[in-house]
Amino acid sequence: MDVIKDLIKEGRLQEKPQKVLKGFDENETVSPEYEIIHPPKLCPDCDLTVTNHRTLFYKRLSPVIHWAKKCNNCNCFQHPVTGKYTLSSPELGAWWRSNTPVKPKK
Ligand SMILES: [Zn+2]
Repeated sequence: MDVIKDLIKEGRLQEKPQKVLKGFDENETVSPEYEIIHPPKLCPDCDLTVTNHRTLFYKRLSPVIHWAKKCNNCNCFQHPVTGKYTLSSPELGAWWRSNTPVKPKK
């Protein structure tokens, strides 16, 4: 339990308010619940300081099958060449359309 006390002191953990469960009396001991506090850090994708970094992948079928990578913090899509998160969804679509060779019609 000392580890938990240390983490609370460091601000990494927070005790959740105790729930009173149905069928239990208030004086009965319920094991405590904790919430992890993520320290803010620099996102390697978009250079924003974030507490919860998430990157989403979307499989897109047009004009060719590819994965679109979106940063959930700045809501930008990754540029396929630069690797930077600078594009909106229509801009990424336009990039793929202008960079996909057109198949000759039969
Ligand atoms: Zn971002």
